Amino acid sequence: MTFRARHLLGIEHLAPLEITTVLDLADRYVDLNRRTVKQSDVLAGMTQINMFFENSTRTQASFELAGKRLGADVMNMAVAQSSVKKGETLIDTALTLNAMHPDLLVVRHPSSGAVNLLASKVNCAVLNAGDGRHEHPTQALLDALTIRRAKGRIQRLTVAICGDIAHSRVARSNLILLGKMENRIRLIGPPTLMPAGIGEFGVEVYDDMRKGLEGADVVMMLRLQKERMDGGFIPSEREYYHRYGLDAEKLAHAKADAIVMHPGPMNRGVEIDGDLADDINRSVIQDQVEMGVAVRMACMDLLARNLRLERGRKIVGTMV
Ligand code: ASP
Repeated sequence: MTFRARHLLGIEHLAPLEITTVLDLADRYVDLNRRTVKQSDVLAGMTQINMFFENSTRTQASFELAGKRLGADVMNMAVAQSSVKKGETLIDTALTLNAMHPDLLVVRHPSSGAVNLLASKVNCAVLNAGDGRHEHPTQALLDALTIRRAKGRIQRLTVAICGDIAHSRVARSNLILLGKMENRIRLIGPPTLMPAGIGEFGVEVYDDMRKGLEGADVVMMLRLQKERMDGGFIPSEREYYHRYGLDAEKLAHAKADAIVMHPGPMNRGVEIDGDLADDINRSVIQDQVEMGVAVRMACMDLLARNLRLERGRKIVGTMV
């Protein structure tokens, strides 16, 4: 198996072969998760701490379940009740937890780069569960697994990513992953929600949704990241839905077998029509949630193997 990373901080640091390794192992965890008894002892004796400094439903639940199914002792740090509220810095909190010898630290933080900084201060494996508008690597990996299972491959596909590209870590991680796997990427959204200079990154940019969807195999919708906006980026939600909300009429411009994705949480009637989101013939949104648990199990399994190897080497080194 090829997976050398010490931490999972972003897709940026992964080679295509490492991505494939995660997806192959995750496929096996999908099978385990569909059994009545979902238990494995891959992380037995290890401690996983989840620190979420930003709201989360799917990601936190998914990491917690993933750790428990692999046999780890899982602790969810209640950030709202912690000393963070008394002014403790992220690094002090991290160092305090580090002294308790966790093996895996899962962190979500509103500041881009905060998780990378934290990883440099602790001696366990750190998994980025979303940092600001920077990266959300497990989301891109679970999206890739969903696409690979629906389309039979994760190469040479036309993928349309639509909506608030500028503020979305999901878009950023997906762009990097899909690019590394040699897909054709189209970004669709109002110019106000497109990062400056994005055209130089080998992607096609559209503000006309119907044109952008032409011939797409995958349509990935994004939530408007209002919490990261400091001004009026769209005239109104009604107007936004009219131009960029995905409904059956707009989807008809994509390939007849195109799949519809959304990372959640969804704003029905803002970025996507509610009936389309629930249409199991087109929407793979629930599959994304299922793949999320399996992908997080695979990532933690691989990081734990590297951690054991590293610690084993250190112990041998000390003895010699
Ligand atoms: N859940 C995803 C994230 O944490 C997408 C979103 O919030 O819109 O980035």
